[in-house]
Amino acid sequence: MKSASIVEFIRGTYQTNEFIPLHVPRFDGNEKNYVMETLESTFVSSVGKFVDNFEHKIESFTGTAKAVATVNGTAALHTALYMAGVRQGDLVITQALTFVATCNALHHMGAEPVFVDVSPVSLGLCPKAVDAFLCEQAEVTETGCIHKPTGKRIQAVVPMHTFGHPVELDELLAICQKWNIALVEDAAESLGSFYKGKHTGTIGDFGALSFNGNKIITTGGGGIVLCQSSDDGVHTKHLTTTAKVPHAYEFFHDEPGFNYRMPNINAALGCAQMEVLDSYLQQKRQLAGRYRDFFSDSEYKFVSEPSYAQSNYWLNAIICPDQEARERLLKETNAAGVMTRPIWKLMHRLPMFENAIRADLNNSEFIEAHLVNLPSTPIKFDVIEERNES
Ligand SMILES: *Cc1c(COP(=O)(O)O)cnc(C)c1O
Repeated sequence: MKSASIVEFIRGTYQTNEFIPLHVPRFDGNEKNYVMETLESTFVSSVGKFVDNFEHKIESFTGTAKAVATVNGTAALHTALYMAGVRQGDLVITQALTFVATCNALHHMGAEPVFVDVSPVSLGLCPKAVDAFLCEQAEVTETGCIHKPTGKRIQAVVPMHTFGHPVELDELLAICQKWNIALVEDAAESLGSFYKGKHTGTIGDFGALSFNGNKIITTGGGGIVLCQSSDDGVHTKHLTTTAKVPHAYEFFHDEPGFNYRMPNINAALGCAQMEVLDSYLQQKRQLAGRYRDFFSDSEYKFVSEPSYAQSNYWLNAIICPDQEARERLLKETNAAGVMTRPIWKLMHRLPMFENAIRADLNNSEFIEAHLVNLPSTPIKFDVIEERNES
C-alpha cells in the first residue's frame, strides 16, 4: 500500500486538507464556563470546589476508592511509587518500551529501573518475562524481594498500558503477590480502558493517570493517583498537600510532603472534559474501527485491543512490514501534512538508563523498529456523515 493512499484515507476521515495533528484536545463542552467561574470567584489555585468535584468524577468513573488530583502525571506516578514503598536504592521492574516519565519518576526517588520485555499482544509488560526474570535473579526474604546479583530490593513492578491497551493484570498481580512486590500501574494513557470490566489503574496497589494536553482528556497539565483503599487515599492526599496537619492557624507538617496538588483552574477544565469523556471514547472506538477495516487487507497490521480488554484507543498504531516501510511511511505522511510518529526510543538507549539491569527485550526492539502512530484525535462521525450526504 502506498503512503499516498494512507494520507488520502486519513484526510477523508478528518475531512480536511489542512495539517492533521497526532492528537489535540477539543473544548466543545462546558470548559469555558467552568474556567471562567474560577476566574470570577478568584479561586484559581489550591482552594475551590472543582478539585473535589473532579476527584469524585474520576472515582465514580473508575470505581477506585480514592482519587487524588496532582499537577501532572509524573507527579502522580512519583507519589504512587512513594506510597507503594519505593525508596532510595530500590529496583523497580518496568518496560523499556514506555514514555520517559515512567523512569524519570523512579529515578528521582533514587530507585533504578530494571527493564523487562513487553507482550506483542498488549505492547505492555509481559507477565511471563517478569516471572522468568524473578525466577532467575531474585529471592523472597524477610526484608522483601531481593535481586541476588546486586543485593538490592525489588520493591515494585510498574506496567504501562501502552496507547491505552491494558496489560495482563491478573497474571502480573499473581506474580507480584508470589514475590512480595507492589504493583503500580502507569495508567497515564489509559483513562477509559478496562481490564476484564475493571478500570485500568485500579487493580494494582496504586495507579497513575495523566491529563496532559495530548491525552484522551486534558486539564492543561494534571494527573491523578488512584488509591485502592480510603486510608491510602487520605495519606496520599496528605502527602501531595505538603503533609500539613489541619489546624485553624498553626503550621505543622508531620512528614516530608510534596506540593503536588492540582490547582482549581485546571480541575475546572477536567470537570468539563469528564462530561464528554464517554462521547470521546465512543468516537475513538469508531475511528479505530475505520483504521482496522482500512488496513485489514494490507501489509500493515493494525494494533487492536487485547481480547480480554476494552481499550480507549488513545493512539492508533500500525506495525509496518519492515523497517524500510516504517521510514518511508513516516517521511511521506509527515511531508504531506499528516502527522505520524514512531514509538519512543527504548529506555535503555537513553544515556541516563543505558546501564540499567535488563532482560531480553526482543519484542520491545521489534515494536520499536516497526510501529507507527496515526492521527487519533476523536472526531464526530455523525457530523461528517451528514456533510457527505448534502
Ligand atoms: C503522559 C505520560 C506520563 C506522564 O504524564 P505527564 O502528565 O506528562 O507528567 C507518564 N507515563 C506515560 C506512559 C505517559 O504517556
